[in-house]
Amino acid sequence: MTDSDPPAIRTRFAPSPSGFLHLGSARTALFNWAYARRHGGKLVIRIEDTDVERSTLESEKAVLEGLEWLGIDWDEGPLRQSERSERHLAAVERLLSTGHAYRCRCTRIELEERRTQTIAAGRKWTYDGLCRDLELGDDCGPHTVRLRLPEHGELGWDDAVYGPSGQDASEIGDRIIRRSDGLPLYHLAVVVDDLEMGITHVIRGADHHPNTPLQIALYRALDADPPTFAHVPLIVGSGGKKLSKRRDSVSIQDFERDGILPDALRNWLIRIGWSCGDQEIFSADEICASFDLAAVNRSSAQADAEKLAWLNQHYIKELPNAEFVAALMPFLSQVTSQAVTPSDGLSQLVELQRERGKTLVEIARLSRWFVNDTIDYEEKAVTKHLKPAIGPPLRDLHDALAKLSNWSEESVKSCFDAVLAQHEDLKMGKLAQPVRVALTGGTVSPGIFETLAVLGQARSIARVEAALDLIPPA
Ligand code: GLU
Repeated sequence: MTDSDPPAIRTRFAPSPSGFLHLGSARTALFNWAYARRHGGKLVIRIEDTDVERSTLESEKAVLEGLEWLGIDWDEGPLRQSERSERHLAAVERLLSTGHAYRCRCTRIELEERRTQTIAAGRKWTYDGLCRDLELGDDCGPHTVRLRLPEHGELGWDDAVYGPSGQDASEIGDRIIRRSDGLPLYHLAVVVDDLEMGITHVIRGADHHPNTPLQIALYRALDADPPTFAHVPLIVGSGGKKLSKRRDSVSIQDFERDGILPDALRNWLIRIGWSCGDQEIFSADEICASFDLAAVNRSSAQADAEKLAWLNQHYIKELPNAEFVAALMPFLSQVTSQAVTPSDGLSQLVELQRERGKTLVEIARLSRWFVNDTIDYEEKAVTKHLKPAIGPPLRDLHDALAKLSNWSEESVKSCFDAVLAQHEDLKMGKLAQPVRVALTGGTVSPGIFETLAVLGQARSIARVEAALDLIPPA
């Protein structure tokens, strides 16, 4: 490496572990991952757990599991911000010794009083600098430490998504960086960590855009160059509405539980507010090969549920058989309340069901009849299709099926042909639908011959027999 080479790209994902992995955070993580991978850089995970009351280990675990489920891997970490407070406090001491920070004795009550007066007089409140030039020492009694900002001057940066951004220092005022109980404040911790971890690109939610001027001031005070900042617009629902926990799926675990495949969710997330020509389908490798901050749209990030359903169906179609069976099994176990294990029948069944549902949950629901021998009959279907007139042909079909010595789509079809030949007025549809009700309890299933073939002879015959018992006497 020569002096003129830019430093290797280092990005970070810095979740606050106070809940599940939220959709917006997952997208931020994905962008950081994609950018690092695209440029042969490194992704660092930093858990921002300094808010002791809200941070939990359980949430940290959920966040990391969510990342893994999405296929987002990282190179360093997870590091915990709470374990670095000595570094944060050392930076405060440095700032005090260089005069970029000073001790402030103003109490909360005094500050509140002055703030109220200022606002009542129609002015905007920023710290009024009462302790700014007092040169208070450590023995000044209870105190906070404030960052000394220039009185004027642009704290600006060229945001990789929003373009030229910034605020005048006078609008921010001297902010507290160490509390009176000796704890470092959040913005200081973020800047010190990003600096010491050599982060070159801070890619994060646009809700942090307003925090950036103060953070830039901290970089300058620490005599360091700020990284590149890229703020990505927050995700909104279709129609531009804020996502709501009650109405929308908002955590990665919600989507997993709803039967969305990780490949589909990752593809969906990367395309929310980012595009590359008119390409819609992106494998993980394609994301890493083409992701670019310049193409992140600063104005919109709409989550379109129909698009996700479409993508999920696409990835379900692409799944190799064994993977599909493995993905579906937990859902089948759940909807049938039985432990489902892989079998040849299940492998054949999933092929029949592949294109029949948009999620694994839907497909599992449509496949309940295959697992459960106790059929959940739909009352309407029984009344409509299991009428006295169907009794004799259904009995004949039962007997013909029972006699078969080889069970296949072709052989069961020959039984239907024979029964239709015997009962002249009967049409295929009129026979197939009662059989479908017998086998599945309802009127929706794959083709009737395929359904019989996959269910097997013994189970099929037993179900037709049970249906014959449901037919009322003529
Ligand atoms: N911990 C912050 C959050 O979860 C992120 C801070 C940052 O990216 O600078 O919103």
